[in-house]
Amino acid sequence: MNYHNITYPDQNNGDGLRVVLWLSGCSHHCDGCQNPQTWATNSGIKFDDNAKHEIFEQLKKEYISGITFSGGDPLHKDNVDELYEVILDITSKFPEKTLWLYTGYTWDEIWDFSNKSHENIMRRQIVSFCDVLVDGEYVKQLRDTSLHWCGSSNQRVIDVQKSIKYIGLHQQKHKIVLWNS
Ligand code: SF4
Repeated sequence: MNYHNITYPDQNNGDGLRVVLWLSGCSHHCDGCQNPQTWATNSGIKFDDNAKHEIFEQLKKEYISGITFSGGDPLHKDNVDELYEVILDITSKFPEKTLWLYTGYTWDEIWDFSNKSHENIMRRQIVSFCDVLVDGEYVKQLRDTSLHWCGSSNQRVIDVQKSIKYIGLHQQKHKIVLWNS
């Protein structure tokens, strides 16, 4: 898994002041993407223990609300295994910090149980640890600068833990609860 940057304190990619991990790799190739330099999985540098240490040092700070995974697409198939391990580490060491994740995949694609590929199973595992998922590709024709946390109006800021209950209890994967700041 490669990454391009770790930024902090960041207030543009989720609630409060956050650490943002900008991962490499994206196969969506949206017209008008602001970060096309991140599309190649071998762009950026290898995510290693030093990068993890840098993130942990920030998460120790009381004023840091949590971490946001962006990119690139954190849920690119080449990221999911290592990202899952990183998330397990973060949630065990910092259970009080929130996790936001930006992806070009939609909620419905991720929770499509007919897709039994390893990467989609891992996507579901990862998302189930998150507090907020901003989903869907960027659509230039739907660009809306009034939206706080996303770029185009098709994208949704989803309260994962509330939405996931509809899948677990009612098998209603199409019902979502939007995050309410
Ligand atoms: S999903 Fe995000 S990073 Fe990937 S091409 Fe679309 S806007 Fe760019």
